[in-house]
Amino acid sequence: KSARWDLKDNESKHLPIYQHKPKLIQAVKNSTFLVVTGETGSGKTTQLPQYLHEAGFCKNGKIGITQPRRVAAITVAQRVAEEMQYTLGREVGYQIRFDDCTSQDTVVKYMTDGCLLREILADPGLSQYSVVILDEVHERSLNTDILLGLLKKIFSNSPKASKSRSFPLKVVVMSATLETDKLSAFLSNCPVFTIPGRTFPVTCTFGSAVGPKDTESTSYIKEVVNMALAVHTSEMAGDILVFLTGQSEIERACDLLFEKAESIDYRYDVQDQTVEGLLILPLYGSMPTDQQRQIFQPPPPGIRKCVVATNIAATSLTVNGVKYIIDSGFVKQLNHNSRVGMDILEVVPISKSEAQQRAGRAGRTSAGKCFRIYTKEFWEKCMPEYTVPEIQRTSLTAVILTLKCLGVHDVIRFPYLDSPEERFILEALKQLYQFDAIDRRGNVTQLGELMVEFPLHPGLTRAVLKATSLGCKDLLLPVAAMLSVENIFIRPGHPDKQKEAEKKHRVLAAKSGGTNDFATLLTVFQSCKSSDRPSEWCKENWIHWRALKSAISVETQLRDILLRLQQNRDIPKETFDGKKSEVFRRCLCTGYFTNVARRSVGKVFCTMDGHGSMVHIHPSSSLFDQEAGLNWVIFHDVLVTSRMYIRTVCPIRYEWVKDLLPKLHEVDVYELSSVARQ
Ligand code: ADP
Ligand code: MG
Repeated sequence: KSARWDLKDNESKHLPIYQHKPKLIQAVKNSTFLVVTGETGSGKTTQLPQYLHEAGFCKNGKIGITQPRRVAAITVAQRVAEEMQYTLGREVGYQIRFDDCTSQDTVVKYMTDGCLLREILADPGLSQYSVVILDEVHERSLNTDILLGLLKKIFSNSPKASKSRSFPLKVVVMSATLETDKLSAFLSNCPVFTIPGRTFPVTCTFGSAVGPKDTESTSYIKEVVNMALAVHTSEMAGDILVFLTGQSEIERACDLLFEKAESIDYRYDVQDQTVEGLLILPLYGSMPTDQQRQIFQPPPPGIRKCVVATNIAATSLTVNGVKYIIDSGFVKQLNHNSRVGMDILEVVPISKSEAQQRAGRAGRTSAGKCFRIYTKEFWEKCMPEYTVPEIQRTSLTAVILTLKCLGVHDVIRFPYLDSPEERFILEALKQLYQFDAIDRRGNVTQLGELMVEFPLHPGLTRAVLKATSLGCKDLLLPVAAMLSVENIFIRPGHPDKQKEAEKKHRVLAAKSGGTNDFATLLTVFQSCKSSDRPSEWCKENWIHWRALKSAISVETQLRDILLRLQQNRDIPKETFDGKKSEVFRRCLCTGYFTNVARRSVGKVFCTMDGHGSMVHIHPSSSLFDQEAGLNWVIFHDVLVTSRMYIRTVCPIRYEWVKDLLPKLHEVDVYELSSVARQ
């Protein structure tokens, strides 16, 4: 064996989990369900699958490990492939939506929880797997919660569950220390394996920068930067981990930090220890994986590392060497907004338990310090005790359709670890009915069966299917792909550059008529794809090349899925004689009739979904400042800041949605609910 292998091997032998290897393997063998718990960083995610592989669990089938976060699935698979000295994508691989890096040989497969949910749809017995590990269960992501309920339902009475299985499935549920009794009770009182771990004390201090009145302000970016610099210039050696909210905030903080760190005078030593520089590293979900890997590497001697991260660094990824935490007190969270009737990404205060988890990251290898920029009063008045599980705060439309397709008719009495409010389930049923995915009796329609195969929001799927029927899927597929990736328009922070970027974006919008943001997306996609040097084209036009590249790949995959569906199922043909721009917008209407707004006065629009919310067109839209000429519009999503803004907007004619709008009010939810209760 090579020297490199020995090094890695030794490293993993120091992890707390290592001493428990034989007992753990035995525990997995002993029962169908097993809960494994241990401090973040103890080695659960990277080591347990390797132990099971070594113990021969891959003879009959694969080991599948789910992660709520895409990035975690990728980086961990990379790490494990490296440790096992395999090429990523062969024996060890990963699969996330739109990115499958596995092969026939893959036996250890990391994947997002959404991917495993899809696999259950195709094969409820999971016959290809010998072990399924649900990881990061304490995060309580929607899909992981649903998987828990499904695996309990399918396998708790019969570990072989289906005829397609010749041997029993093992289900391991892994969680940081929280709620293990509850998990065990949920899974028929299954055994709990606790990996004892040593943690060191972390001293927490409250700040004065963010108080109860500041829940809406964004001053926390500046504050964490100041705090990081204060720590850097006054505390002993040791790396810093800053918790912020999202990509743009992190990029801004890194720019600010970089600017300020440049002017530090290093002629003195910090408390007798030489710290001569600051290595600033961002960490968020959508950044390129090779950049993400940097955060795991130790900094050069004398240099302090400062990682500015989203919540991803709280439990999914462990950065070694961290001694100082700077906690902004905020997180970006997807919440269902019943006022608007849809899911909205919001910046909200974290929970107290989340704050404790963040602080704990400083005490893995020695005593640490956590600097909270918020006041004690903010902690007491604004931060809830625990984070509400996603299932209780986001739209259930897609998962309810999945459950229905799996034959779970009574979606209200499904075994949920924590039940969502009944009205959320009803709202999901109503939306499925509106999109024609289920009928009045709550049964899945043909369209619903097509929809569940498509990894997009039901509305967008419906628009794509309509376009397919009308023979113009080339118009809709790129748009669907563009809406599935992160924002593609670059918005530079510098005012001059911002003007330049906006000018370029206006030119692109004008190319597609200048009055339809969906058409602009199509134009950008086509122009870039047909360009000889697409990356340069993007640079010139202030477009994120990386995002566009993934949109191109997503479009190809959606196209493949659609072709496969067309072969197996009947997608009805329709004809339309009208202008191309009209057919495009009409297809959009079939998916977005739930997002229709009508101009009331001046620049104010009123949504037609029964909520009657007052909304404004977002400045990023090409229709901004053209409101006077508009009457009816559809929009992709809503951004709530001081106002409610609609983004990605397209003008329509009332006649196009006239027949669809009544569907929003036609069905009495109780009619659907009585079906759900049957
Ligand atoms: P757990 O799942 O119990 O939180 P992990 O298995 O994720 O623990 O992590 C165990 C150790 O492996 C940690 O010290 C972590 O820093 C290290 N590690 C994980 N991924 C990587 C990577 N890509 N590169 C270097 N070290 C890593
Ligand atoms: Mg883990």
